[in-house]
Amino acid sequence: MNRSIVYLVGAGPGDPGLITIKGMACIKKADVIIYDHLVNTSLLKEAKNEADIIYVGKQGNKHTMEQEDINRLIVNKAKEDKIVTRLKGGDPFVFGRGGEEAVFLKENNIPFEIVPGITAAIATPAYAGIPVTHRSCTSTFGLITGHEDPTKDQSEIDWGKISTGIGTLTFYMGVKNLPNIVEQLIKHGRSKDTPVAVIRCGTTPAQQTVTGILSNIVEKAKKIKPPAITIVGEVVKLRDQLNWYETKPLFGKTIIVTRSRDQASEFSEKLIGLGANVLEFPTISITNPDNFDSLDKGIKRLESTDWIIFTSVNGVDSFFHRLFNLGGDIRDLKGVKICAIGPATAERIKEFHIRVDCQPPKYVAESVVEVFKKIENLRGKRILMPRADIARSYLPEELQKLGADVMEVVAYKTVVASNGDAAILESLKDGVVDIVTFTSSSTVRNFVKIVGEDNLATFKEKVKFASIGPITTKTAEEMDIEVSIKADEYTIPGLTKAIVERVG
Ligand code: SAH
Repeated sequence: MNRSIVYLVGAGPGDPGLITIKGMACIKKADVIIYDHLVNTSLLKEAKNEADIIYVGKQGNKHTMEQEDINRLIVNKAKEDKIVTRLKGGDPFVFGRGGEEAVFLKENNIPFEIVPGITAAIATPAYAGIPVTHRSCTSTFGLITGHEDPTKDQSEIDWGKISTGIGTLTFYMGVKNLPNIVEQLIKHGRSKDTPVAVIRCGTTPAQQTVTGILSNIVEKAKKIKPPAITIVGEVVKLRDQLNWYETKPLFGKTIIVTRSRDQASEFSEKLIGLGANVLEFPTISITNPDNFDSLDKGIKRLESTDWIIFTSVNGVDSFFHRLFNLGGDIRDLKGVKICAIGPATAERIKEFHIRVDCQPPKYVAESVVEVFKKIENLRGKRILMPRADIARSYLPEELQKLGADVMEVVAYKTVVASNGDAAILESLKDGVVDIVTFTSSSTVRNFVKIVGEDNLATFKEKVKFASIGPITTKTAEEMDIEVSIKADEYTIPGLTKAIVERVG
């Protein structure tokens, strides 16, 4: 069967959450993705591993590829019997040359579908607290190119009609041309007191909004660079009441998350939800242990095990993967009691349909010892602890002192993530980063290893360091890193709360 099809998909205005469900499905099933400059590249993470991902971006006047070549590329890829997703910023049919691409596909007999996206003129004012229509101000709304060459004799835009004939006017690609746009509007009868907003990088943490009136906006917005939307009309005044996004507690803050790639998302999503610009800089990779000998031994003696203490989500995952790989299942845990350190660990255990029998109130080893002292005489009890290769030995030692037979097994290994992202390192040096977060001692040690002590010295004073708990803080302080944000509760929500209290 011939698979050839091209989906012309609107990726939305910037916030990756603003793509449609259908658009996302097209990313997931594509053999080839051809995307533009304004597409948020984090969406590409959803592509198949083997997908061919091609950038054909346009940035201002710098075209990486001419439109004819892009058209040809799309057609050629589709002819190779491929599912092609052509991803464009905003909506594909709004100033995106999507129409031209569709016509070319039609001419070449390639089947295509259009997946609309949220266009910048609707989304970016929304994120700036400006509704594009509002009953008391306007019932008309226009989308206009601001790109038109002002020296052109014959304007495609009928300034006489739109200046006073439409309530809300939005101009795409109009940053350079703003003086001409303003001049035309005033010349054709729009009051020079009409409110105006210029919104750059709307719906992203880099969003910048400048407001004014027609007579002063050119001066006020002169530092604004593309991409920006200009919105003209009385609706702009509603921003005074409705500015919801730029007032989020962490808006404007750039925060580095140093957890492993697999574990970063929960924390990153929380911070992004609070308006932060999150840079993921994984310092840890989780891998299999050098061998499974000790873990396998532990699994073999489950029948005679009284407790398993899980100290991390990774410990839970690697324990169960190995158990299942060896042909076992959760029935092998019958009669074994389960202790979880920390709520995330407990949650992961529950995902395997297993009850957690003990969850110490504090998420450090010391608290576990206290709890066990209360709930059970550990003399002779067999405890299994699936852990990382470099875990602290305090907990097993203390449990042994209580008479327990503790078997520590290496369930996974944490290694230094291969290399740091050079662009993030530059952001640190340039003072763009506000906070670096540490969620374990390994994140501290590995962060220092990856960035290097010399580099660290250059930005140490410019950023704040945040730590999830006392052990992590101690490790940081031993490495001469001053921790100014400390979680009261040693969890990701606890750390997030401390960050908001300190800088929000
Ligand atoms: N198809 C796109 C528009 C492409 S033209 C859409 O439907 O949104 C490119 C112009 O869109 C930019 O010059 C800018 O005016 C506007 N634009 C796109 N994304 C934007 C954003 N996040 N913030 C502000 N303007 C944006």
